[in-house]
Amino acid sequence: MKASAFAYARVTSVANALDLLAAHGERAKVLSGGQSLLPAMNLRLVAPELIVDIGELAELRGVAVKGEVLTIGALTRHADLLKFPEIAAQAPLLTDAVAHVAHPAIRNRGTIGGSLAHADPASELPACMLTLGATIIARGPSGERRISASEFFAGIYETALRPQELLVAVELPVTPTSSTHYFHEFVRRHGDYAIVGLAAQASVKDGRFTDLRLGFFAVGDRPLLANSAGKLIDVAITSAMLSEACSALDEELSPLEDQQATPAMRRRLAKALLVRCVSYLLSRPDLRAG
Ligand code: FAD
Repeated sequence: MKASAFAYARVTSVANALDLLAAHGERAKVLSGGQSLLPAMNLRLVAPELIVDIGELAELRGVAVKGEVLTIGALTRHADLLKFPEIAAQAPLLTDAVAHVAHPAIRNRGTIGGSLAHADPASELPACMLTLGATIIARGPSGERRISASEFFAGIYETALRPQELLVAVELPVTPTSSTHYFHEFVRRHGDYAIVGLAAQASVKDGRFTDLRLGFFAVGDRPLLANSAGKLIDVAITSAMLSEACSALDEELSPLEDQQATPAMRRRLAKALLVRCVSYLLSRPDLRAG
C-alpha cells in the first residue's frame, strides 16, 4: 500500500516548524527519522495532510552535560546514542537499552524524540525515561513546557504532547556512579519489539536496596514504573519477600493480548524478569532458585 496524498515542508528552523504546526494542528505530522511514521502512512493508519520534516534542524541533535543534567536533543539518532561517551558514562542504562531497539538500519534513521513521541508501549526508550526520571521538553506556540516522563506517556501511541508542540529534547539526571542497572527483554529475535521488558536502576548498600526503580514495558497500554519496588527497599530480601513483590506486581500490570503473547504469559514473564533483576542487582543467585 502507498500513503495517501500529502503536502511536504522541510523546515529550516524550530520557529518555522512551530508556525506550520500552529497553522495545521492535527492535520500535520512531524517527520523525524520516519521509521514509524512512514510505515503507518503506507498502511494508511494515519493520513496527515502535511508532513513537517524537521530532519535538517541540527540544533535538535546531540548531547550535552551541564552539572548533574544530561540533555539529549530530540533528533539524536538511536545509532548515535550508542556512540556518545557521555551517555555511556552518565546514563549507562540507556546505552544498554538502545542496543535492543530494532536493527542497525532502523537505528541509523530513528531518533529518540520520534520514539518517545510515538509512544509504542513495547518500546525500550519510554520505559528507560521512567526509570531514569527524565523530563521531556516540548516547545509550542506559548513557549517551552517541561513534562515529567511519568506524566508524558498517556496510552497506546498517546502522549501529553499537544498537536502544535514539538518535542525538542530530553533531560536526564546524571546517573550516580554508585548506581547499578539491569536491562533485559524477552523477544523472539534480537531487534524485535519486546514481548515483555524491564529497565531497572538501583543503589545498593550492605546487600540492601537504598533505591530501586523498575521500568517495565509491553505490560499494558504504556510503560510502567512499578510501585512493587517499594517493598524491596531497605530490607534484607528473602525469597518469600520476592514472591510477595511478584504478587504485588501482578496487580499493577494490565497486559494486552496480541499475536506475540497472552496477558497471562506477559504477567509470568514480568515476574520472571523481576526475580532475575533483583538477583542480578544484589548478586544473589539464591533468590532465583527460590
Ligand atoms: P518518526 O517515524 O519520524 O515519527 C514517529 C511519530 O512521532 C510520528 O507520529 C511523528 O509525527 C512523531 N514525532 C517524531 N518526532 C517528533 C518530535 N520531535 N516532536 C513531536 N512529534 C514527533 N522501536 C523500538 O523502540 N523498539 C523496537 O524494537 C523497534 N523495532 C522496529 C522494527 C521495525 C521493522 C521498524 C520499522 C521500526 C522499529 N522501531 C522500534 C521503531 C523505531 O525505533 C523508530 O525509529 C521510532 O519509534 C520512531 O522514531 P523516528 O525518528 O523514526 O520517528
